[in-house]
Amino acid sequence: MLEGKIAVVTGASRGIGRAVALKLAEDGALVIVNYNGSKEKALEVKEEIGKKGGKAEAYRCDVSDFSACEAFIAEIIKEHGRLDILVNNAGITRDGLLMKMSEEDFDKVLATNLKGAFNTLRFASRQMLKQRNGRVINMASVVGVAGQANYAASKAGIIGLTKSAAREMASRGITVNAVAPGFIETDMTEVLSDKVKETSVSQIPLGRFGKAEDVAAAVSFLASEEAGYITGQVLHVDGGMAM
Ligand code: NAP
Repeated sequence: MLEGKIAVVTGASRGIGRAVALKLAEDGALVIVNYNGSKEKALEVKEEIGKKGGKAEAYRCDVSDFSACEAFIAEIIKEHGRLDILVNNAGITRDGLLMKMSEEDFDKVLATNLKGAFNTLRFASRQMLKQRNGRVINMASVVGVAGQANYAASKAGIIGLTKSAAREMASRGITVNAVAPGFIETDMTEVLSDKVKETSVSQIPLGRFGKAEDVAAAVSFLASEEAGYITGQVLHVDGGMAM
């Protein structure tokens, strides 16, 4: 399905990004497994893809660093001559009530979750426009939880970035969409208290937390040829939570 395609997945060392990397490789793409701090885990993802007969490379880049992203994307294009799929998945949380939130916690979350997506797209878009072909999938979220003003702002920003980029790039056949996961079982949600988890499950019509693979399936679809007439959309993968 994605044979011959080059896919970059940011934050692919763990969680949702890891599942997305495995799925796109299974679909036939050569996947660049981006990581920041978890080198060993990223190498394990690369190895797992290789064992399953897929192709992958691991590449360290802090997505919040504009110049590092320029070098990262340039290196991929130099080595492979193209870039077909960009999944902006890297993300962090620094939760806290608004009145107590530090400037650093606000800036750090915006820098990684929102500016990180801008940074990679800024450099990948030029190549995609030249190719007249590309798929961009940005990881948003179902938001509105107390104590996540920084995170919610970053994800609302992701949706705005997605729509604006979709309009800019549509005339060259490039689609830009967002996926908004609900509660997905990863390291990010592992830290939540049992009480928060119980309350959250009770608000999910399908009655369970999602799995990283549930999100990866949606990304795989949006990255496919079949999704070529879908752009500027936010696809919720949340068990019906935000109906
Ligand atoms: P996770 O398990 O905490 O993994 C986060 C990933 O992001 C890691 O691979 C991490 O890489 C990477 N990352 C963090 N900062 C980075 C940076 N500066 N540069 C490059 N990579 C960086 O998180 P997750 O739950 O899989 O979430 C993935 C995405 O889905 C995020 O955008 C998150 O906001 C979104 N999301 C998650 C949920 C959920 O319920 N889990 C719900 C809605 C949306 P290293 O470890 O290598 O640093």
